[in-house]
Amino acid sequence: GQFLSTTSKFSRQDTPRKAEADILDSTSELTRSDTLSDNLPVLTKAKGHYWYPSNGPKILDACGGAGVACLGHGRRDIIKAAIAQMKDCSYASYAHFKTSPAEELSDWLIESTGGKMQKVYIMCSGSEAMEAALKLAIEYFTWMGQPSRVNIIARDQSYHGTTLGSLSASGHVARREPFRGILLPSRFHHIPACNPYRQRLSLAESDASFVARKAAELEAEFQRLGPTTVAAVVLEPVVGAALGCVPAVPGYLAAMQAVCVRHGALLVLDEVMCGMGRTGTLHAWQSEELEGGGGERLATTVVPDLQTVAKGFAGGYQPASALLVGEKVAGVMRREGKMFTHGHTYQNHPVVAATALKVQRVVEKERLLENVRVQGRLLERLLRERLEGHPNVGDIRGKGLFWGIEFVRDKKTKEPFEPGQQIAQRVQRIAMRDFKVLIYHGQGCAGGGRGDHVMIMPAYNISSKLITEIVERVARAVEEVFR
Ligand code: PLP
Repeated sequence: GQFLSTTSKFSRQDTPRKAEADILDSTSELTRSDTLSDNLPVLTKAKGHYWYPSNGPKILDACGGAGVACLGHGRRDIIKAAIAQMKDCSYASYAHFKTSPAEELSDWLIESTGGKMQKVYIMCSGSEAMEAALKLAIEYFTWMGQPSRVNIIARDQSYHGTTLGSLSASGHVARREPFRGILLPSRFHHIPACNPYRQRLSLAESDASFVARKAAELEAEFQRLGPTTVAAVVLEPVVGAALGCVPAVPGYLAAMQAVCVRHGALLVLDEVMCGMGRTGTLHAWQSEELEGGGGERLATTVVPDLQTVAKGFAGGYQPASALLVGEKVAGVMRREGKMFTHGHTYQNHPVVAATALKVQRVVEKERLLENVRVQGRLLERLLRERLEGHPNVGDIRGKGLFWGIEFVRDKKTKEPFEPGQQIAQRVQRIAMRDFKVLIYHGQGCAGGGRGDHVMIMPAYNISSKLITEIVERVARAVEEVFR
């Protein structure tokens, strides 16, 4: 949430000097207010699809904060489940006890993957889950007698979390920059993102050819590092905050997995933002095409070795995340009695688990994944109708209820705005101030800290009427900023 108001401050370090000066200039006030948070409205209530600040009118929630509030706010059924669990058992130390909500939630999650994921660790934030995934990948190879596998390959323009390991994996230049001295560049390596809007050689380049080039980039990185030194490749199936809802090109995940399999490395899918229903299937990897790069038909479906989920997991009613462990790693743990050297005080927290379980039961019972797909199609259609022709809208992309709009100075050349102009931030601010709708904004999607995008991530139980309302308000904010 804090990144909402600080994106451009973060962007200052990864751009050329001129842009750097622009940003420092234009954000000095912002930077001060970040620390004090004194410019933010005070929220007294959130209910349904609206935020209620203490003064001023209600604000339509079109992004669930940071893509979190997947059922809207203040639902009595979920609050009731959380309170009931608190009354029964408000805390249990995971090292001493199992609790029924944590057990039930783990079983439900495993079942939701068709048994492909076999072990679950419940935690409280996406960063914790990613940190655990990275550590488990490394520890797995020590169990396997391959201690030389210490390298992690991730991608540019990615965000995997705010802790040291997860931030080292992140390719988000601006968020890394202040901590450059203590990140782990000798262990974490970055290949280009999968961003067809900016990377296709031409409009005529096929998915298969594009994917083949991407697979070659990963292969080259394995060769550069030495294939037997790589523990894991880390990817978001649909890139959230760092790129603005960019789905992998069909076949991309399968092709990446094929390279991992060839070299014996693990595939880690970060579904912190795009998972738990956001893109229309419960797990984003479940909607992936099976066609590999170069048109070859792959024998395997795309199943991660390790997977993380968070935001929509408990919809913000509790801070919840999880690490899911696939057969390869869980099998070794089971057969050889290996224990992951890891643990948090609040791991498998019973109230977190009971709340997440209730959220997921509601998603199931109300058939909300279907609504995500239906309303997602409407959202895409209306966004295209309303904004595709705008001279400064370069790209509209997404999946399910996860849509991004990228702004450009020049539609033909795709030239981004100067970061100092804070275009995405201005769209977000005008949308909130003048049109009373909350959207998420980010910078850096064009590379090197340049490029502006906003993201629309409504709740899964949103109506067509509110989708129409969101698009209208956002479109008017965009028109207003560029006017
Ligand atoms: N991974 C992804 C893809 C994210 O979007 C985020 C947060 O935005 C994280 C990891 C980190 O999650 P958290 O902020 O809950 O620590």
